[in-house]
Amino acid sequence: MAPLLEIRAARRDFATPEGGKICALDGVDLDVGANEFVTLLGPSGCGKTTLLRAISGFEMLDSGTIQLGGADLTALPPFRRPVNTVFQSYALFGHITVARNVGYALEVAGVAKAQRDVEVAETLEKVGLAGMGTRRPSQLSGGQRQRVALARAIIAKPKLLLLDEPLSALDRNLRQQMQIELKNLQHRLGIAFIFVTHDQEEALTMSDRIVVMRAGAIEQIGTPRDIYRHPRNRFVAEFIGETNLFAVTVDRLEGDTALARTAEGVEVLLPADGRKAGERLTAILRPADFTIAAQGIPGTVTRAVYLGSDLHLSVAPEAGGPDISVAIRDGLGVGEGTRLHLAHDPARVHVLEDA
Ligand code: ATP
Repeated sequence: MAPLLEIRAARRDFATPEGGKICALDGVDLDVGANEFVTLLGPSGCGKTTLLRAISGFEMLDSGTIQLGGADLTALPPFRRPVNTVFQSYALFGHITVARNVGYALEVAGVAKAQRDVEVAETLEKVGLAGMGTRRPSQLSGGQRQRVALARAIIAKPKLLLLDEPLSALDRNLRQQMQIELKNLQHRLGIAFIFVTHDQEEALTMSDRIVVMRAGAIEQIGTPRDIYRHPRNRFVAEFIGETNLFAVTVDRLEGDTALARTAEGVEVLLPADGRKAGERLTAILRPADFTIAAQGIPGTVTRAVYLGSDLHLSVAPEAGGPDISVAIRDGLGVGEGTRLHLAHDPARVHVLEDA
């Protein structure tokens, strides 16, 4: 099936006050499916907002095309696109009721009041605000205002909803609750969401696919699992979650396993398949890939922090080099100063060939 949204070779430059040029979108290609939750993730200034604005029509491309459902949107103004945006600031009208805020697009389109009332009530119900229509935005909590903004954005049944850091103003608990609600809502509505966030954890929990951007270009597109377990390069590996990168040289092969060492002598085990002694590469291990065992990398705990059910450790390898980040379930008796060995399953190592 053809994707809902097809972006091809999208390019947008901005002039800087100094007379230079910033490339905010540097030839972006992206497909989004009809019922997909896609997240744009990347450091500040990488072009996430510019890409979202290009899709909504608030920003025009210098070159490239944007198609939605097979129709070319590239030159259409925002109000002609079947796309809506939810902003971080909510952008609600403070002087009118929640119901009028939500029904505003229908009012402008000339839909009769009786019909509007039905659709507003239905939409408020969908976002968990049934019966709140007569309030004003100032009489609502932050989370409720965010739901009003959502209701207003979905009432006209867009094919695609764009969300620009919609949860960043909420506190942690409410944010986590809204993450689940948003994901459920997207599923129920069956429309595509493109969601912008700085927060990797949010991207990992909510998305069908994550688009990792850097300097106006896409570094990698994949499922959360793909991006976490199989980052294409160091940038993606370091941007998504805590990670340990070991620059190693393969020392020798023993059966199915290749033994590799860092310059300091920290030993990392890899699957042997096709490796040769002397080969240099980067081995990636996530904190949860380690266990405490009788044998392995010897080291001393320099920091131990409880985070919910996990114990997070920094372990200084005896051989030297950077501390290793470790997350373990059962850390009874382990604390700062504990000497231990860190073992790992060679199959859990993700290898980058770029060293
Ligand atoms: P953040 O996470 O900080 O919101 P972002 O990834 O959304 O960042 P963009 O806002 O898309 O990044 O900006 C991409 C680049 O384009 C940045 O270098 C930014 O300074 C520049 N830029 C964006 N809009 C304009 C503009 N209207 N005029 C000039 N430069 C701009």
